[in-house]
Amino acid sequence: ALVSVIGAVVSLASAMGWIDFGGATTDIAPWDAFRALARSAVMSLAIAALHRWGPAWSVHAMTLLVPFLLLPSLPAASFDSGLPQAIWVPVLIASALTTVRWTIVVATVSAAIVVWLHIDQLARFSLSPYIVSSVVLVLVVGGRMLRDRLLEMARVQAQRAENLARFDALTGLPQRQVAHQRIADGIREGAARGSTLAVVMVDVDRFNEVNDALGHLGGDALLTEVARRLRASVPASDMVARFGGDEFTIVLSEVTDRATIDRVTEAVRASMATPFVFREERVSVTLSIGIALHPDDGANPDALLHEADQALYASKAAGRDRATYFSSALREAADVRRRLVADLRDALPAGQFEVHYQPILALDTGAVHHAEALLRWHHPTRGSVSPAEFIPLAEATGQIHAIGAWVFSEAAANAARWTQSQGAPFMVGVNYSPAQFRPPPGNGLTWRSALDHLRDSGLPGHVVSFEITEGLLLDDRDDVRAQLDALRQAGVAIALDDFGTGYSALAYLRKYDFDFLKIDRAFVGDLEHTAQNVPLCRAMIVMAHALGMKVIAEGVETETQRALLAEMGCDYAQGYYFARPMPAAAFDAFLATRRDTPDPAAA
Ligand code: C2E
Ligand code: MG
Ligand code: MG
Repeated sequence: ALVSVIGAVVSLASAMGWIDFGGATTDIAPWDAFRALARSAVMSLAIAALHRWGPAWSVHAMTLLVPFLLLPSLPAASFDSGLPQAIWVPVLIASALTTVRWTIVVATVSAAIVVWLHIDQLARFSLSPYIVSSVVLVLVVGGRMLRDRLLEMARVQAQRAENLARFDALTGLPQRQVAHQRIADGIREGAARGSTLAVVMVDVDRFNEVNDALGHLGGDALLTEVARRLRASVPASDMVARFGGDEFTIVLSEVTDRATIDRVTEAVRASMATPFVFREERVSVTLSIGIALHPDDGANPDALLHEADQALYASKAAGRDRATYFSSALREAADVRRRLVADLRDALPAGQFEVHYQPILALDTGAVHHAEALLRWHHPTRGSVSPAEFIPLAEATGQIHAIGAWVFSEAAANAARWTQSQGAPFMVGVNYSPAQFRPPPGNGLTWRSALDHLRDSGLPGHVVSFEITEGLLLDDRDDVRAQLDALRQAGVAIALDDFGTGYSALAYLRKYDFDFLKIDRAFVGDLEHTAQNVPLCRAMIVMAHALGMKVIAEGVETETQRALLAEMGCDYAQGYYFARPMPAAAFDAFLATRRDTPDPAAA
């Protein structure tokens, strides 16, 4: 309507001679002026109507109408020259093009060509009120449409960006914020109805290991399949979202009792039973699950998510492949952990760490030329904290690099000392977690610093061995192999620790030549009570020997176990039966007494 008014006013003004367009024929009959006004009004109304229907339509209309607007203003001669057609045809083509941008480009280019070709004829034009009102009309309506069109394009783009943010590109599941919103909505609706809402956090066990073993494509394929199975085993009315990485969130609204939740978590876990197949590799995965309930555990989405996460952590800590409900005890455990992480930062500079040494005996002679370095943390208020508790925290925070380097230097120095006091090579085994083979954050220390340390202190490589777990081997990366090779070259022995537990597969034994295989204490501990453990240990020993490894049995606690292992041909043993881990000074004394009194076991 505004456009019509402007067009009309301009037409009228020029017709009445109020505006002088310079050289224009302003001596025009009032009737002509009225016709111009009426035409402007009708056309702008028509265009406005089309514009409501769809911006593209009004663009087409505009491009078609421009020649009509121009036609009556052109001198008769120009028709003979084909000028109107020359304008009209390209504009017509332009109108057939769907995008505004191309329409404008074609229209502009064709207009320019026409002006250039017919410049002499155009010079004879008089700037009639028709043309002026038409041009104003075109400019105003076109400008408005263009603006609308640009706004529309911006809106579509924003929508697309929002969709990208809302839905995960890999699995197609909603993302974190969507789950957050769903929980908030569920809480509001649940409060009205007095029903319970469950936030279920799901994490793929050992995903990093699987990811490293299969490569990133394999990892992605696995996540996609996990997402599909999760979605299929949760009622359609409940949300399954990807929380990031290998974490998923299920929001169960309106649960009546725990049995309902248990049914869902059981279905979810059961859906993982069939192995995943990726490029002929079969991989089995399990899930760790944490559950928090509204209103019992938390009042808002953040609290519930946090608590479900703590429950998930508890599932992991309890050995993975299980579901745990949040409880106040978990909250306390999480607080303890948080404080421990904070305290861990000061532990090394404050000298709260100490390395203990546990002797490793040769089973045939009882001689001790080998020990394992085990880290101890003397916490100022909590007393002794187990490495099983703080090593994972140090790994998660990256402090493991600095701590590991310190343990190594201590162990290497003592090994050198004992080599001298014993008059024979003495080796200390240092535990290295997979995290220590990954690049440290910033410019922290790496396993390489261990080798530098050896070289700088002029120690031979064979005073130390590295105890690594199978987890590292799952990491079938070239750089891990290169790191192990470099250690080997420096004379460091490599021991495969905790063998028989974890992700263990015999195939991993092929991936590297180990010097030692350490049978996990789970097999040694009740050798005399669990019948299957005897053949299992025997088989591990035979296999290790066939592959050129020496065998160390961990956790020997009784004479029966020692005797059984010796009879099986096991090379070395360590355990409380011989000695507990002890400080370096105590180990000095231990070595001294053994030199004086030969081991009765060796007799
Ligand atoms: P691991 O390498 O398997 O060490 C053997 C664990 O078994 C030690 O526990 C040791 O004290 C314990 N042990 C030895 N003999 C017996 C026995 O007869 N019976 C029983 N029940 N246990 C026995 P500890 O010292 O608590 O260490 C736990 C784990 O922490 C170690 O397992 C190792 O994986 C890790 N760890 C310890 N020190 C370090 C370290 O400096 N760096 C890294 N990365 N990990 C470490
Ligand atoms: Mg060890
Ligand atoms: Mg072990």
